[in-house]
Amino acid sequence: MSNFYIISAPSGSGKTTLVSQLMAKESNLEFSISCTTRNPRGQEEDGKEYYFISREEFEARIADGEFLEWAKVFDHYYGTSRRELARAESAGKDLVLDIDVQGARQLKEKIAGAVSIFILAPSRSELEQRLRARSEDSGKVIERRLEEAAAEIRNYSAYDYVIVNERVEESARDLRSIIRAERVRRQRMDAKVGAILKTFA
Ligand code: 5GP
Repeated sequence: MSNFYIISAPSGSGKTTLVSQLMAKESNLEFSISCTTRNPRGQEEDGKEYYFISREEFEARIADGEFLEWAKVFDHYYGTSRRELARAESAGKDLVLDIDVQGARQLKEKIAGAVSIFILAPSRSELEQRLRARSEDSGKVIERRLEEAAAEIRNYSAYDYVIVNERVEESARDLRSIIRAERVRRQRMDAKVGAILKTFA
């Protein structure tokens, strides 16, 4: 059985860096590639960060029941296809899902044992500084992202773990520790201990 790790964070909190460091260091982890109707940014490639599809295609897939969860974030659709979970299960890998607060809530209800992690910047001014340094958005968009961040942070209690991302190295270590500890949870060790017990029979 695969473990599912849901990771959410307001835009600019450093989630993408932390997730890519995690993926590089931990084996046996797959990244869930979502579908989205937004356009690719910078170096993003179809089938790598996201599957980029049209609004019509997305709506058709909703109607077909393809998504385990989906949400509208900043005027675009984002969704997790059931196939991503099946892919991880059949490869015997654990799955990391980078999804928003709405999606996290839906998945926690649908996947028993899914572990959720919330990442946030240490303050509003720090987040604003990071968003400006990224120079990806206009002042108006940054204002909106800051408001969205406050709304997302207010939902933090729905998550199992919270990482305040002050220093990347430390946050990366915390994130890795969570994944490693969850892997050896007693409930996930039954098969292994059962096999060990058989050697005593
Ligand atoms: P971005 O456009 O910056 O890549 O992502 C915007 C937001 O959409 C982020 O908060 C990200 O976590 C969220 N997101 C990405 N994929 C999914 C998904 O499949 N489902 C949901 N609910 N949110 C997603």
